[in-house]
Amino acid sequence: MDDINPATGARIDTYETDTAADIEAALARAADAANDWRDRPIRERERHVAAAGDVLRENTQTYAELITAEMGKPITQARAEIEKCAAVCDHYATHASAYLQPDGHPSPAGADVQTVYEPLGPVLAVMPWNFPFWQVFRFAAPALAAGNVALLKHASNVPGCAEAIADVFEAAGLPAGVFQTLLVGADAVEDVIRDDRVRAATLTGSEPAGSAVAATAGETLKKTVLELGGSDPFVVLDDADVAAAAASGAWARTLNSGQSCIAAKRFIVHTDVYEAFRDAFVSEIDSLTVGDPTREETDVGPQASAAGLDTTHEQVRASVDAGATVVTGGQPSDREGAFYEPTVLTDVPAGCPADTEELFGPVAAVFEVPDEAAAIAKANATAFGLGASVWTADRDRGRRVARAMDAGCAYVNQPVTSDPRVPFGGIGRSGYGRELAGAGIRAFVNRKTLWVE
Ligand code: NAP
Repeated sequence: MDDINPATGARIDTYETDTAADIEAALARAADAANDWRDRPIRERERHVAAAGDVLRENTQTYAELITAEMGKPITQARAEIEKCAAVCDHYATHASAYLQPDGHPSPAGADVQTVYEPLGPVLAVMPWNFPFWQVFRFAAPALAAGNVALLKHASNVPGCAEAIADVFEAAGLPAGVFQTLLVGADAVEDVIRDDRVRAATLTGSEPAGSAVAATAGETLKKTVLELGGSDPFVVLDDADVAAAAASGAWARTLNSGQSCIAAKRFIVHTDVYEAFRDAFVSEIDSLTVGDPTREETDVGPQASAAGLDTTHEQVRASVDAGATVVTGGQPSDREGAFYEPTVLTDVPAGCPADTEELFGPVAAVFEVPDEAAAIAKANATAFGLGASVWTADRDRGRRVARAMDAGCAYVNQPVTSDPRVPFGGIGRSGYGRELAGAGIRAFVNRKTLWVE
């Protein structure tokens, strides 16, 4: 695997991919480790997860620099990502036991009936590069606390992060085989899922990858969780605080240089505040500092790869050809590396890429709608269904509109975010299943009915 710094195009390192024998050895270790790990007291597993959080905190800058080098995330955001990983470890170290307490049921006379939660065994995690630590810890902290063991197949452009994450768990004292990294390409995934020792799979990534994993898992009758793409609506109603919405919207669109599944992508604005919002939003976008991701002041770094930049630019070009107007940006930046200018499109015609596809770069599509009903209809005119955000001075109205939007989560007067304490996941082509909170730790467990007469 070629490890390329997208800000400079320089090669960081080259990694040997695992051979078939390496994969076999990892699967055997995972199966052995699963038998031991599941029998350890949950308090002991929680302590190991807490220790992983400590390792992350002790090495925040080192891991943040690795993220920045491999996929170009601005360094302040990379540090925040590591801190969030430590927080998800803390969360499950504190709450795993409570989340997995047996549930009682009304029992027939003389019987004691409960649902108890038991681990499934080795779980394969196929993960993306965009939050290369967070996506993994979001899965691993609950899955390991529940007594599963993990096999990580990370994205091919972040092998250094993949190995560093395995090192975190080793330094946290996890027994050998409980968390392992497979340095393999996407073509190795099918055989791993088919292996009888692997009991379930989770994928965070694109729709084609999700459907490939789900197809194999379906054939072999293994549970999956899929966290896929999105084209989240960001609805600004006529009574919204326009300045606050514009500032939050600019942040929500350009976080991680625009490469976030829950980024606000379609800005749907009531006609009464359309011009005010558009102007404030464009001014926020234009004020962002684009540049070297290792610098503290940088807001927007490079795209993670030249190929990703090309895809985004192709989508912008096709949208403009269809009639969209470029208000700002619209081009790759005039600098070395995979940089794209933060871009705002208006007059976006129905059916063009900026309307219907996920734009995984710093490109916002702004739509004008005549009223609340049209805003809801436009928000729901997508095959995705990850997150949604609505802005209004009236919290009851916000709650009502949020309920009407087809999404796995909806936020009022706040951009869509993920938080260890609340469930996260999508509907439609954004995937299925939930991560985080109690729902996340119960994703990969056997809900066993235990009837004692
Ligand atoms: P991707 O190309 O789907 O890659 C994700 C992972 O899947 C990588 O490890 C990749 O391996 C692997 N993969 C690709 N094709 C596969 C196949 N046919 N079978 C099995 N594995 C396969 O996605 P990406 O470009 O890295 O990530 C961007 C996408 O992820 C966006 O759509 C984004 O919205 C989505 N995402 C969703 C969430 C969420 O929580 N819902 C969070 C973050 C990102 P290789 O790298 O070796 O190809």
